[in-house]
Amino acid sequence: MATLLDGKAVSASIQEEIRQTVARHFLPDNAPRLCVILVGENPASASYVKTKCRMAEKLGFRHEVYHFDEDVTQAEVEARIDACNADPMCDAVFVQLPLPRHLDAVALPNRVRADKDADGLTRAAMGALLLGESNAFQPCTPRGILRLLDAYQIELSGLDAVVIGRSNIVGKPVSLMLQRRNATVTMCHTRTRDLGSHVCRADVVVVAAGVPGLVKGEWIKPGAVVVDCGFTKIDGQIYGDVEFDAASARASYITPVPGGVGPMTVITLMEQTLQSALKRCG
Ligand code: NAD
Repeated sequence: MATLLDGKAVSASIQEEIRQTVARHFLPDNAPRLCVILVGENPASASYVKTKCRMAEKLGFRHEVYHFDEDVTQAEVEARIDACNADPMCDAVFVQLPLPRHLDAVALPNRVRADKDADGLTRAAMGALLLGESNAFQPCTPRGILRLLDAYQIELSGLDAVVIGRSNIVGKPVSLMLQRRNATVTMCHTRTRDLGSHVCRADVVVVAAGVPGLVKGEWIKPGAVVVDCGFTKIDGQIYGDVEFDAASARASYITPVPGGVGPMTVITLMEQTLQSALKRCG
């Protein structure tokens, strides 16, 4: 049976470190401040924002949610992002995705100033990742995944890694990060022929497709490390992209869903907000 990669437990230990840093460096009225742009009533987005705000409170951060109606214009959202960019007491700004179709979901997150981009999704952050510049903000989910693997001292050098999904927020950046750790990375996607033939050779599998049960347990190479980013809610039940029971019978390590990648994403956003706030304090 595989060992669980327990994102909740790893997040809890990082939370403790963050709380101590906040207590050492900030008074309540100048604590790290996170500004969130939320548009419309998408229940998943509302719930992600709630989780992030709850965590911010728990850590002693300040936070502000700018919640716009579904029919807000691009210019109105841009003006709010510009105001946050200009506000010296705003340490981090992020735009909760997805956005309604009439808004530009690439331009808006990119409008966030690079030094406030705690979500790590602007061109500057992505470019820095591609060039291997280590002190920039990084996309939270991939960075959180690497942090989780590090917490279990999983050495990646020389391993064969398969990443399923090529999104900007998970698949592409996590592939780069694994490659930087000297894994040999194969990226799979909707046009990949015979997904199972790739997965069954992998020492590390990272799945971010959003297709429940896509990765069959029998594909998993004995002893492989399995990271499941999938998060699909059906009738109130949450499903990952991997057949959990069958996969954990073969894997050495596996993330639970929920409780694996999700908590690592949230805590990474908090860490990067803190990083920005510490720069403000000099
Ligand atoms: P996306 O929808 O932007 O991209 C999905 C990717 O998966 C695409 O590149 C596509 O090529 C690939 N894909 C889809 N179906 C496939 C198939 N049948 N075979 C092979 N490849 C396939 O996805 P995303 O934004 O990266 O999110 C993916 C999943 O991860 C979703 O369930 C999302 O909710 C979850 N997610 C979780 C967190 C977290 O913090 N827990 C963060 C980000 C995303």
